[in-house]
Amino acid sequence: MSPDDSTIYLNGRYLPRTQGHLSIDDRGFIFGDGVYEVFRAVDGELFRGEGHVTRLLRGLDALGIRVPEEVEDPGLLAIARSLLARNRHDTGQATVYLQVTRGAAPRTHHFPAPPVTPTVLLYTSPFQHPEGLHEKGASCVLHSDRRWSRADIKSVNLLPNVLAKEAARKAGAIEAIFVRDGMLLEGSSTNLFGVLDGVLRTYPPANYILRGITRDVVLELATGEGIQAREEGIPVEELPRVSELFITGTTTDVLPIVHVDGAPVGDGVPGPITRKLQKALQEEMARAEAPLG
Ligand code: PMP
Repeated sequence: MSPDDSTIYLNGRYLPRTQGHLSIDDRGFIFGDGVYEVFRAVDGELFRGEGHVTRLLRGLDALGIRVPEEVEDPGLLAIARSLLARNRHDTGQATVYLQVTRGAAPRTHHFPAPPVTPTVLLYTSPFQHPEGLHEKGASCVLHSDRRWSRADIKSVNLLPNVLAKEAARKAGAIEAIFVRDGMLLEGSSTNLFGVLDGVLRTYPPANYILRGITRDVVLELATGEGIQAREEGIPVEELPRVSELFITGTTTDVLPIVHVDGAPVGDGVPGPITRKLQKALQEEMARAEAPLG
């Protein structure tokens, strides 16, 4: 099925993708005034779907955007599952994109008064990892973090992330790692983990990073695997001593990083802790998809 033949959900209606039209006054378009989520679906089931919805609700609350009616009835996960079925993603891998904006209103910076109905959009896409990448590992570049100090909100204001990812692509790398105050924070669309002195480390869930659903799953899995882990960032100057590095995300899973700014990480090949967690995440996703009982 070509993307244009697929069905989307927009403001209460299931429509062919080509018939999805938004107001030119939508504040998502005018101001980037909205939040989004990307879900991973395996055989029609959403991996950690509730976690994504909880994060979305937190973002809406932080931005003072009304909770859309869909959250109660029929439920965002129900819409996502219905789209997956309609678009024949009930087998194999897919993603669901969900965006909620403050809605359409004549342009003023302050919120529309009275409030307007939020815009709600969901669509699905087929998904596949780039061939071989997760086996051999990838490269990153370092990038100064010029985002605002509420990176914990998954807002559609992604300009610094877009520019950072483009800088990475131009350098032949897969990801740009944001650096602030001498600390490695996260990637432009991923969280970052490193192994230092045998301990797995990742930046704490503060306002400077997005608390990834995959990040939290990987921390859980690390505990299960008996890997010592700490929510503590890694200073940039420690990079030469970091033995393993990997990034995580809904569409990234656990991806080994074997070069940073052209210098090898550890031995320049994916390390044992990374491999263990990569496998554990695969198994967790397979378990989540299996029928209960
Ligand atoms: N950090 C940023 C900046 C991101 O955009 C993402 C992707 N949403 C992540 C981390 C990873 O989050 P998740 O595991 O929930 O996809």
